[in-house]
Amino acid sequence: MPSALKTSPTETDCLVIGAGPAALFLIFELGLLEIECHVVDVLPHAGGQCMALYADKPIYDIPSRPRSTGRELVNDLLAQAAPFKPQFHLGQQVSALELQADARWLATTSSGQGFLCKTLVIAAGVGAFTPRKLAHLDLAALEGTQVFYAPTQDAANKHIVIYGGGEEAVQASLACLAKQPASVRLVYRRDKLDVDGDLQLAFNQAVADGVIDFKAGQIQELSHSHMSLATPTEHTEQLRFDELWVMQGLTPQLGPLAHWGLAMAKKQIIVNTENFCTSEPAIFAIGDVNTYPGKRKLIVSAFHEATLAAYGVAALVYPGQKIALEYTTASPRLHQLLGVSSS
Ligand SMILES: Cc1cc2nc3c(=O)[nH]c(=O)nc-3n(C[C@H](O)[C@H](O)[C@H](O)COP(=O)(O)OP(=O)(O)OC[C@H]3O[C@@H](n4cnc5c(N)ncnc54)[C@H](O)[C@@H]3O)c2cc1C
Repeated sequence: MPSALKTSPTETDCLVIGAGPAALFLIFELGLLEIECHVVDVLPHAGGQCMALYADKPIYDIPSRPRSTGRELVNDLLAQAAPFKPQFHLGQQVSALELQADARWLATTSSGQGFLCKTLVIAAGVGAFTPRKLAHLDLAALEGTQVFYAPTQDAANKHIVIYGGGEEAVQASLACLAKQPASVRLVYRRDKLDVDGDLQLAFNQAVADGVIDFKAGQIQELSHSHMSLATPTEHTEQLRFDELWVMQGLTPQLGPLAHWGLAMAKKQIIVNTENFCTSEPAIFAIGDVNTYPGKRKLIVSAFHEATLAAYGVAALVYPGQKIALEYTTASPRLHQLLGVSSS
């Protein structure tokens, strides 16, 4: 067993990197071809950009859906894929990929999980979504003990400082109150937050009630119990803290896949448009991560690419077999797979 792995690798016909809309529709198309897959995403939830960047905003250009939010679209894609019981491995990044002597690929994740796969579909979008850190401070030594990039479960009796000025940070400060903390303080580099409407009103009320403290300033230094904050009036204040939650949103990073030896152009993976295969015959790339003449980074393009990539995967999983086209309206085999009645 390779030393980076914590357990023996999971063997699969197809590993999918990313759980955005491209991957979710691919799971469905693979399912119709009776190919089970494992899906890895660094985010703690499926949905890619639709969930991370615009979950509650409407999308108007999905065929036959005049209007649906990012969240509604993702929920429906998950429901559509559900009959095929995809196995999601969330909260971990595929960090390494290595060709094995038997022509399979070994993919390793940041959590030490391994996947030995016949085929691989990269549906990594604009990259792995990772939290924005405090650029001017190296907090690595405190990460996971006192510095976090999401709310922690156990805030009871702790002095919690949240850094950020957007919706995510303000919502977290309000939600934290229910966890019986010793204190909650929101810190942001500016004295005006980037929120409005009901959220702004609820936050202002919590500050007026004295249950949340709001401070403008830049965090300068952290010890195990205090942080120094440079305020706009050029004073330095010492703030007590047990946990710092840095909540400045997510940023995509193409990360390790740029170094896997695949042919690329402008940080995107070059594919052929017949089956969305990359320069490696068993590796496919769909959605925002790929490029080809005429490419448009749209969800509708990702759905088409997923469909043809699934047939490309099937050609390798069932070598020498002709893969017939079957309609979901008419095929008893597909009805059985989908768990619906043929009558
Ligand atoms: C604000 C905004 C509005 C948009 N509006 C529209 C619209 O109206 N209509 C439209 O068609 N398109 C729209 N888009 C574009 C659309 O969101 C993308 O085309 C679509 O999300 C691409 O899907 P995807 O599955 O390829 O990638 P993504 O949605 O980016 O998903 C990729 C996933 O892969 C994960 N990942 C990446 N690398 C790794 C790794 N190494 N290991 C593990 N996980 C990894 C990421 O965390 C991510 O969750 C919009 C985009 C934005 C930003």
